[in-house]
Amino acid sequence: MNAVLTPPDAMTEVARQLLGDIGAATRDGEGITRESYGPGEDRALALLEAHGRRAGLACEYDGARNLWLRLAQDTRTDAAIVIGSHVDSVPQGGNYDGLAGVVAGLCVLEGLRERWSQLPPVRVLALRGEESAWYGRAYMGSMALLGRLPPAALALRHRNGSGTLGEAMARCGADVAAIARGEPLLPQPVAAYLELHIEQGPVMVTRGWPVAAVTGIRGNVRHNRVRCLGETGHSGAVPRWLRHDAMLAVAQLLARMDEHWRVLLQMGMDLVMTSGICGTPAQSHAVSVIPGEVQFSFEVRSQDAATLERFHALMREECAAIAAERGVRFEFDDALATAPATMDEGWIRRFEAAGARLGQPVERLPSGAGHDAAVFAAAGIPSAMLFVRNDHGSHNPHEAMDIDDFAAGTRVLMAALADLANPATPE
Ligand SMILES: [Zn+2]
Repeated sequence: MNAVLTPPDAMTEVARQLLGDIGAATRDGEGITRESYGPGEDRALALLEAHGRRAGLACEYDGARNLWLRLAQDTRTDAAIVIGSHVDSVPQGGNYDGLAGVVAGLCVLEGLRERWSQLPPVRVLALRGEESAWYGRAYMGSMALLGRLPPAALALRHRNGSGTLGEAMARCGADVAAIARGEPLLPQPVAAYLELHIEQGPVMVTRGWPVAAVTGIRGNVRHNRVRCLGETGHSGAVPRWLRHDAMLAVAQLLARMDEHWRVLLQMGMDLVMTSGICGTPAQSHAVSVIPGEVQFSFEVRSQDAATLERFHALMREECAAIAAERGVRFEFDDALATAPATMDEGWIRRFEAAGARLGQPVERLPSGAGHDAAVFAAAGIPSAMLFVRNDHGSHNPHEAMDIDDFAAGTRVLMAALADLANPATPE
């Protein structure tokens, strides 16, 4: 029989070992590679399953071949609280992005073992296919599970051109026909989806916060390619007043948008703006040529759909104004939009209350990166996330999560769940 683990020490030790074992089994020299619906992901799931069986857990796969773990004696089929995250990684990524949340779920299941019958059913969900690096599309496992993966996604090709997502899913044993029909594949109703994840930005390390509650997952509006068209000319011969310099027009646009951004932040809005690609055409540009064309990308992210819309409209207005002032014109590709996801306020408060009781401050922070929690939230399932401090960002082999921070986050998650215990049921 598996001994009952008392948090935090035994739990932390099991977590450290499990993270270490799965990391060692999926190391590729440079970093960690757990391909979506591929070999590294399979290996990670097999190790989680082996751990689960040793710990007396029932391990079951859904039709999208995500792994569900529960206490073997808890066979209830009413609405469950699901603690989940993904087990795949980007190529040569880090060990904690995703996996930490699954291991946290296992720790919580173990820590609440004695009280299971006083709580709603708790299930741990190890999701596949969250990373877009492999098939150019994120959240494949969670979307397939919820019957929301567009059938066309099954034809997406692997990054090296070797095959399609549908073929990879079939190889892993998923029910591709049901996924193509958009059938929800949930084994039981879900009352809430909770996900612990490492922070992927620098805020928590900078502020000294070990644990934070995620307020929402930012949506975005982006243009992959905007062209600003002016007029080329000899850099020495054309005076300033006769120039239509596309580069200066774009520089002015970005400076103005940066100023709008600053003001909107002061007004308390959530917003980030990036122009990650910008350049003059390589085939014709030269040091002595006034740029007649600049291509750039434009992306804005916010937790608030109205802010996204407003900032995007503001950008278009500024383009029109600069076009008139400078005698240039802007050509836009179609804007692509992803809606923001709001995390459940009730669960955020539960996390904060649990933290307060534990003496563990839980700050609030938006998530700039996407997560499976956004998919569950979009399906109308109350969803919430805890972030754990992590240095060096993610999607690289240098992720650095302190196991003590992981334990602090896991304790908050467990305490928030323990609060749901039915007080009428004697201990
Ligand atoms: Zn992740």
